[in-house]
Amino acid sequence: MSHARSFYTDLSPDTATVAAGRPEWEQGEPVNPPVLFSSTFISRGVPGETEASYSRYDNPSNHPTEQVIGILEGGPNDAVLFASGMAAIDAAFSLVPMGGRVVMPSHAYNGTGALARELAAQGRIRLSALPIDRTEEVVGALAGGDGSAPAAMLWIETPTNPLLEIADGPALIKAAHEVGAIVAVDNTLATPLGQRPLDWGADVVVHSASKCLGGHSDLILGAVVAAATDHDTALRDFRRIRGATPSAFDGFLLLRGLRTLALRTERSNASAATLARRLESHAAVETVIHPSLTSHPGHGVAKAQMTGFGCVISIELAGGAQAADVVAAQTKSWAPATSLGGVESMLERRRRWPGEFIDVPESLIRLSVGIENVDDLWADLDQALTRAASA
Ligand SMILES: *Cc1c(COP(=O)(O)O)cnc(C)c1O
Repeated sequence: MSHARSFYTDLSPDTATVAAGRPEWEQGEPVNPPVLFSSTFISRGVPGETEASYSRYDNPSNHPTEQVIGILEGGPNDAVLFASGMAAIDAAFSLVPMGGRVVMPSHAYNGTGALARELAAQGRIRLSALPIDRTEEVVGALAGGDGSAPAAMLWIETPTNPLLEIADGPALIKAAHEVGAIVAVDNTLATPLGQRPLDWGADVVVHSASKCLGGHSDLILGAVVAAATDHDTALRDFRRIRGATPSAFDGFLLLRGLRTLALRTERSNASAATLARRLESHAAVETVIHPSLTSHPGHGVAKAQMTGFGCVISIELAGGAQAADVVAAQTKSWAPATSLGGVESMLERRRRWPGEFIDVPESLIRLSVGIENVDDLWADLDQALTRAASA
């Protein structure tokens, strides 16, 4: 890259996301890194440690993208890019020793919950799932006071998807380290511009880059940033052997998206906070969940550990699941689709998925606020909610 890595880590994150991951500033060289569409590279004899040889082992085309994410998270290592968020999560779980106990949120992303339950059914891990915002209970579960061994891993997701519970990151991480557990934090909803779990002391940070980092709903990717070199090496080995290495084209799209992360995040976070406040006084809405609201039980913790409250709002409708389905059928600006963090606003009733946790209310709609004009978004939402109330 054009400057030493430390040059970028000293920059503000919004500058680093633009500046990092670029070629050397040599006369005639491109400003953007070239995208290398090659599965294999000229290689004679024993390839050197950092030498490109075969793109499943390590795709050199994605190094600039990996550098940007690693620097944004404040990591000493670059990110390890994976073919999806779930592949990244699978890799992070591989850091748990055989039979080790994982303490995790009972309302983690439903895919994370499904994977953890499958690993537990296979005997690969043991599982203690509980609400991650109940700090004292989580600390108790880490120690294993009920006769079970201390936890081997603490899995944190904060805010959780879609209930937006807030975990007390620094307090839980301290307690986990006291019992020798590795801490992984899924930072998908907040983004590294909203919170930096490695600064709290976390060992690895996990992302679904399919969401806010990519930001355009056009790719599926995941990333893990590890604080320790041995974890970083283990994650790279896992990716190489399992073949969860992403393509050069997806890596390019992600880098392209990352360049505008700060602008997109600023706009969508601000609009989300505005819409959350307006939704609180809408007659069709029973509950509004957004960490920016003083009515959110985790607002104080969120304020202390986050620099941005995120683009996701969850609401519960007074009219139940039926009313929620009417809203999803009546919006014209909000795309009725799953996923979040794109430039285009989206919403969905989460319990339409059979795999969603039973604790997620039937009437809950998850809204992902994009970068459109906030008053257009409000007008569309207002008319759909009003129709739902009278349906
Ligand atoms: C979407 C999501 C994932 C899974 O990521 P994919 O890229 O869809 O595999 C994991 N965690 C959270 C919080 C998510 O929202």
